[in-house]
Formats: sequence, C-alpha cells, structure tokens
Amino acid sequence: DNGAHVPVLVIGTGYGGSVAALRLAQAGVNVQMVEMGMAWDTPGSDGKIFCNTTSPDNRSYWLRTKTKQPLSNFFGIPIDKSIPRYTGILDAEDFSGITVYQGRGVGGGSLVNGGMAVTPKRENFGAILPSVNADEMYNTYYPRANAGLGVGMIDPAWFDTTDCYQYARVGRKQAQRSGFPFVFVPDVYDWDYMKQEAAGTATKSALAGEILYGNNYGKKSLQKTYIAQIKATGKVTISPLHKVTSVSPASGGGYTVLIDQINTNGDTTVTKTVTADKVFFAAGSVGTSKLLTKLKATGALPNLNSEIGKGWGDNGNVMCGRANHIWDPTGSLQATIPCGGIDNWAAGGAFAEVAPLPTGIETFASFYLSITKNPNRGTFTWNAGANRVDLDWQTAWKQPSIDMAKTIFDKINAKEGTIYRTDLFGVYKIWNDTLTYHPLGGAVLNKATDNYGRLHGYSGLYVIDGALIPGNTSVNPFVTITALAERNIEKIIATDL
Ligand code: FAD
Repeated sequence: DNGAHVPVLVIGTGYGGSVAALRLAQAGVNVQMVEMGMAWDTPGSDGKIFCNTTSPDNRSYWLRTKTKQPLSNFFGIPIDKSIPRYTGILDAEDFSGITVYQGRGVGGGSLVNGGMAVTPKRENFGAILPSVNADEMYNTYYPRANAGLGVGMIDPAWFDTTDCYQYARVGRKQAQRSGFPFVFVPDVYDWDYMKQEAAGTATKSALAGEILYGNNYGKKSLQKTYIAQIKATGKVTISPLHKVTSVSPASGGGYTVLIDQINTNGDTTVTKTVTADKVFFAAGSVGTSKLLTKLKATGALPNLNSEIGKGWGDNGNVMCGRANHIWDPTGSLQATIPCGGIDNWAAGGAFAEVAPLPTGIETFASFYLSITKNPNRGTFTWNAGANRVDLDWQTAWKQPSIDMAKTIFDKINAKEGTIYRTDLFGVYKIWNDTLTYHPLGGAVLNKATDNYGRLHGYSGLYVIDGALIPGNTSVNPFVTITALAERNIEKIIATDL
C-alpha cells in the first residue's frame, strides 16, 4: 500500500525473486513482491488462463498491437497477426540488433518457457561462474534447485514409441548418424500428465500446441512450485500490475521505492511510495540491468560501481530449421516440450535443442535452438534524451554462434543430403540471429556485486536473478539462476538479517 514500510521488497516474481521470497519467508521475514505483469490465475472467456500458440489473442504479447513470433514466416509468408494491445504474457523487447523475449507475470519466465531444466556439466561450471565454489553448487544448491523446481526426465521407453516425439527421434537418428551425441534433457513438465494427454485421458496442453503464451495444465511453472510454497507461508504479499520505477536511500534509513500501478493498457493509474529496509532486484537480466543503469545515471543510486550494465550476453542463442526428405516425416502431432539435444559443446561450442514445430500438420522440418559460447558482450547505457536505457548489441555479433551451430548442421545436411529451411524467419533467411530467449548478465556477480549479490555502494540492496550471470551458462539457464539464488539467499539470511 502507498506509504507502507516493509522489511523486504522483492522486484520481480521470476526464479530469483521466488527463491528469495520463499527462503526469507521461511526465516520469518515478511516480504512484499512487486510484479509488473498480471497474476495469470483467472480463466478468460474461453475457460482457459492462457491462449494457444496457434491462435494468439490479447493475452499473448506484452503491449503490442501485432504478434512478434520467433518463427515469423512459413513458406516465406509472414504469419504475424494483429492483436489488441494488452498486458499479455510474452514481452518481445526490442533493442538495437536484438529482440529479447521475456515472460511477464507472476512467475516471470517460467510462465512462457519450455521448462528445459538443465544443470550444466561440472567441467563447464568454472567458465560460467568463476568466483563460485563449484563443489557447494553441485553438492547442495543444484540439487536444492532441482528439487524445488520439480525437475524430471522423460521415460525413454515411452519416448521411443509415442507419436508426439517422432520429431525428436528424427533429430536423434540424424545426429547419431553424423557422429554427434544426442542427450535427453530434464524438464519441469509433468511427464505422467503428458502420457495421459497422449492416451486421451487428460486435457491436452503440451499436445495441444501450448508454448510461448503459457501452459494451462502440465507444466510446473513457478506458480505450481516455489510460488505455491510462498503463498503457503502466509508471510508474502504479491502485487501484480505494479512496476518499480525507482529505488533510492530514504532519509530515515532503508530505501524509498517508487511503484507505478498500471492497468491492462499499460497506463499508470496510481504512483505509490513504499519504504523498504532491504530491496532485492529480481526483475530479470534486462529488467534489473535497466533499473540499475537508470538509477545510477540519474543520481538515485550514484554510488553503484562502474560494472553496472556491463557483461550482458545472449547465451549464444541462434535458431535454424532443416528440410528433411519425404521419407523422414517429423509428425503432425508434436509435444511442445523439448526433451533432447545434440551436445557438441566440447568440440564446437554448440548445445542444440531439438525443438518442436507444433503446426498441427506434417512439415518435414527439423527445428533447432542452439546455445553457443558466443564471446560477445553488450553494455546497457542511459539515454537521457530519449529517457530510456539502450543496449549496444549488434546483429553481426551472432556470427560466432552461427559458425558454431554450423559445425553440427552443415555436417548433418551433408550426411543426409538435405538443406536448410530458408522460409521460416523471412524470405531466404537460414538463421534467426535477431533474438534471444536467454538474456544473462548486466549486474555481474563479484563485479557489480560482491560474491553473494550484495550491490557495491549500498548495504541492503541485492541482485538475485539472471543479471548476476556473465552472459552464458552453456545450457538453458533457469536451473543455474535458481541454484545461484539458493546459494546467495542462504548466505544473506545467515549474515545480513
Ligand atoms: P524472470 O524470470 O525474467 O523474472 C523477472 C520478473 O520481473 C518478470 O516477471 C518481470 O515481469 C518482472 N519485472 C521486470 N521489471 C520489473 C519492474 N520494474 N517492476 C516489477 N516487476 C518487474 N530457460 C531454461 O532454462 N529452459 C527453457 O526451456 C527456457 N525456455 C525459454 C523459452 C522462452 C520463450 C523464453 C522467453 C525464455 C526461456 N528460458 C528458458 C529462459 C528463462 O525463462 C529465463 O532465463 C528466466 O526466466 C530468468 O529468470 P529471472 O529470475 O532472472 O527473471
């Protein structure tokens, strides 16, 4: 409420924010969570909370009048369509040279993502978070995160027979024929539920094409895991459609937090002021970086150090499709939840998930999201004239990612006698090199903060989300974000409360 004083305020309700709020509440602390997106707990007129990928409506995009689908074309024909402007679930946030996809709502990215819950290989961890004790992570915090998130693995025997993973079996067969290992990837989807979907005994979600705009049944988003636990403590208040715009030292100690309450048009209806003893920035890599960059530059938090806004990376994301022969159909029924990938990380720097193309018709296409060790890093800066934060990324910076992905797909094409699809991202465009699903960095651990996320320059201010991770995790990032948050909040509760 306006004028309130709270012990702890958490900005954002994604992975980092949910871990912080839960552990603080369990330690007896009252927590106020502030989320700019909607609650996503009420069905629309169609009886569903979330809309379907094949028929995006106002619920699909954050304050856009036209969809911006990652796969923008089919046979070269643009498939984006007009939608009413609304505080929808998926933000396609445009910066120069890159569109950054993010979830908006209570649960953050967990609402929109594929649920792939991957713990990086131990030997790669030193390059991911060099200042963090790997033994502690692999013995304690990765297991804690996996348990808290409800991570599970597909039944390999079922994988071998079900229609809905024919596309992934084609991906496996072709990878193996070219000498690449295919690995199963854990996910937070309820695999027993998916079996029931396939058997026709449960309402379909993964098998109904739901992805990107929310999942109505089988996926264990944070709403079903950490946030359900948070609600059970009775010590946490969550305010959706509230956006933090400023944090600055309060005269009597603690911090003054300015919050805009917005309506579903995105317009501010009320501006509120809250005082908090401690503030956790958990607005996601982009949200936290934008806030801190602005607050440092505009004089609200001038003592933040010069690492603010730096070290931002795209986790080396790049997409492509391949056209298979007519005797290699990928199936008209495709589970939207990916369950495996091609691991060529050590040799060429690419971990490529075999992704679905859930169009409902046979496409003979194989579709991949590659994660690569792209060395390029962007910087956020305050643009006073335009009153916004800019990111200096360039599309050409994806070239190393394309080269790394080609080590896999050029070889598979040569072996299979196949070609790339050129019609999925425009007219004659092989690579989608203008987006990322995995923004990381901008307030890097042990640089902008100490080794536990305490911001340099201010006691009682913390970063606890993907902004801490310096640009790459070698695999999909949310398990690492969650595990790092578990590690940091344990230390903070033990020493700072
Ligand atoms: P987020 O989850 O982004 O949460 C931040 C929250 O803060 C958001 O809810 C946001 O609305 C809110 N916020 C921002 N600014 C403010 C503000 N000023 N005031 C109030 N609230 C604010 N990762 C994987 O590991 N596996 C996958 O399979 C996977 N698939 C993905 C698919 C898609 C389409 C996308 C977009 C992402 C995917 N990811 C995946 C990435 C993953 O979802 C993110 O890495 C993760 O959500 C980041 O967690 P976070 O805690 O840093 O922030």
